[in-house]
Amino acid sequence: MTLADLLAKYIYENYKHDVEKIAKRLSSLNPLDLLVLTILSHKTTSINTIKAYNNLKQTVEINAETLVKTPSETIEEAIKVSGLQKIKTIRIKNACKYIRENFRGSLDFIKNMSTSEARSILLKIPGISYKTVDVILLFSFNRHVMPIDVHIARITFRTSLSDGRRDYEYIRRKIEKCFNKYDFKIIHLGLIEYGRKICRARKPKCSICIVKDYCRYYSSLVK
Ligand code: SF4
Repeated sequence: MTLADLLAKYIYENYKHDVEKIAKRLSSLNPLDLLVLTILSHKTTSINTIKAYNNLKQTVEINAETLVKTPSETIEEAIKVSGLQKIKTIRIKNACKYIRENFRGSLDFIKNMSTSEARSILLKIPGISYKTVDVILLFSFNRHVMPIDVHIARITFRTSLSDGRRDYEYIRRKIEKCFNKYDFKIIHLGLIEYGRKICRARKPKCSICIVKDYCRYYSSLVK
């Protein structure tokens, strides 16, 4: 079994039930909601991301026009549970302004584009990262792309999944080749869980890790 096979097996055996529910929920959101949710998720927990998103949804209608017109203070107040509310509000408003002015307020036109064309168009939205674009492509448009978040980047950097390079596009291409493209939603969310619970940034639980034999970080510890 390869390192990727072991991780996929672990994810399916341990996280499938939970991550499948999250994948369904994310896939049911329209692309703009998902964009806002992904901006809110920056440097916070899933629980606080959902709380901030729900607060925002109860405060204003989530569409480009409304979010541009809503005073920043109102948005900041609604999303403050997720932290960094000033920066996140600026990002949400700038993205919505761009979408309103350039795409008539909707991202639905993406469904008729090739994945590479869609990526390059979405990356023009101000303040939107590669990860956010790939989350939208994966969950809203069912494209075979693997968003790389901080947890996935850490696992790949520590193990032989990457060659120690940290740049987003390199890691994404490497990871996409390792897993079945039809499993990307489950694997993406499952790797995040693995990074949160086992391959943590501080004090990773290497003793119970199923891929320690493939891990540069672990082998440097036991040398
Ligand atoms: S052995 Fe430790 S550092 Fe390496 S992947 Fe597993 S948990 Fe992460």
